[in-house]
Amino acid sequence: MTNNELWQAVLGELELTISKPSFTTWFKYTRIVSFENGVVVIGVPNNFTQGWLEKKHQGLILKILNTLTGRGVATIAYRVENAQPVGLRSQENVLEKPLNLDEIKLKDEPKPQMDKYGLNPKYTFANFIVGKGSELAHAAAQAVAVKPGVAYNPLFIYGGVGLGKTHLLQAVGHECIKNNKNFKFLSVTCEKFTSDFVHAVRTQQLKDFKDRYRGADLLLIDDVQFIGGKEGSQEELFHTFNELHQFNKQMVLTSDRQPKEIPSLEARLLSRLQWGMIVDIGSPDFETRVAILGSKCKEKGVQLEEAVINYVATTVQSNVRELEGALNKLIAYSQFKNIQMNVATAKALLQTMEVAPQKKNILPKHVVSIVANYFDLRIDELLGESREKRLAVPRQISMFLLRDLLKVSFPSIGNELGGRDHTTAIHACDKIKKELDINFQLKQDVDNIRQRLYL
Ligand code: ADP
Ligand code: MG
Repeated sequence: MTNNELWQAVLGELELTISKPSFTTWFKYTRIVSFENGVVVIGVPNNFTQGWLEKKHQGLILKILNTLTGRGVATIAYRVENAQPVGLRSQENVLEKPLNLDEIKLKDEPKPQMDKYGLNPKYTFANFIVGKGSELAHAAAQAVAVKPGVAYNPLFIYGGVGLGKTHLLQAVGHECIKNNKNFKFLSVTCEKFTSDFVHAVRTQQLKDFKDRYRGADLLLIDDVQFIGGKEGSQEELFHTFNELHQFNKQMVLTSDRQPKEIPSLEARLLSRLQWGMIVDIGSPDFETRVAILGSKCKEKGVQLEEAVINYVATTVQSNVRELEGALNKLIAYSQFKNIQMNVATAKALLQTMEVAPQKKNILPKHVVSIVANYFDLRIDELLGESREKRLAVPRQISMFLLRDLLKVSFPSIGNELGGRDHTTAIHACDKIKKELDINFQLKQDVDNIRQRLYL
């Protein structure tokens, strides 16, 4: 593996664990300068970035490096390379000088302040802008909030990152408390449920755990896809589910995919998750993006020209989190420089930050899940051992797309596809690439999948 491939793999992992704005801000202009005798030297654009990485992300980077290299890294060092942001080279006439991260104190995404119920106070129905992609999910969430346990149970909301799943989930919580102060509810991430359960088993406090989860009037579980493969937790969730359902206690769950696409999910739990209502939430259309930007500006008490709003809404299409990130960047810059934002400056800023290309928002797991969906396969089949042709070809297509669209390194492609060797990935990519020229059906399939990825 070259240093470049290694760093790409590290970035791939980091991208999955830290927030997108933070990732873009801090890792944009980094690379591995050298890797010798257990010392990895990371090139960074300035001291500010170095300080931040040291303080916030060093442990994680080291851990990932060691996983990828088989414990070959003992130390991380940094070198400030003063690289000029690539996106700005042709833009110098627009900004007086290249954007310097030292200068603008871009804050890391602040940790949301939770209220005493463990909810983010901003995630209410009132703050949610309904658009085409989210109409149904919004309506279902409202119906559940008005009559918990009666309308649909469970309500299962799924969709890509940053589209408002957590927001809607918590809005149900807010609404229920508003209507009944004594309402007992629990809002947890799937990880919290799992770790609570493991802790309860370890400390022999299962009864407490059960009382707490099964005694709730409303149970909100965020990102339930992470329960895949965790057998004990699945069993516990299954029993929790039955108990709550029997007493008409409402459950709302979110996930980045449909229940049937969650890998290694026990059949009986899968069937329960499909009992109620399953709704997806899609990307907002242009009008909705404009409305969301308008509402965020209002929330923050700033005014932006209509042309700037339109520019942002045109440029950042895929998800609301990115949309907010882009807006925050523009606001930070104009406040720092004390200038009114215009389209030219916005363009230069967003290009620098590379918020624009939609490609950036697709993660390897999306590719895998869309390919599985397209061929009507389960993800665990696609990632599994069997070499049946109906599985092998979609698997190779996934590998090809990971390489072609996301530039994922071959070792990471192997990992994504169920822990296969990097030579298998290389072979698959070559094969599909060659075949695309001669096999019309294959070409059409690949084009259709690409299109779905960018919808
Ligand atoms: P997800 O859980 O789907 O990844 P979140 O619910 O965390 O996404 O949403 C990401 C950000 O975008 C949050 O700050 C949220 O408030 C905001 N957001 C998402 N959808 C909307 C919407 N329709 N209207 C207003 N804000 C939204
Ligand atoms: Mg979420």
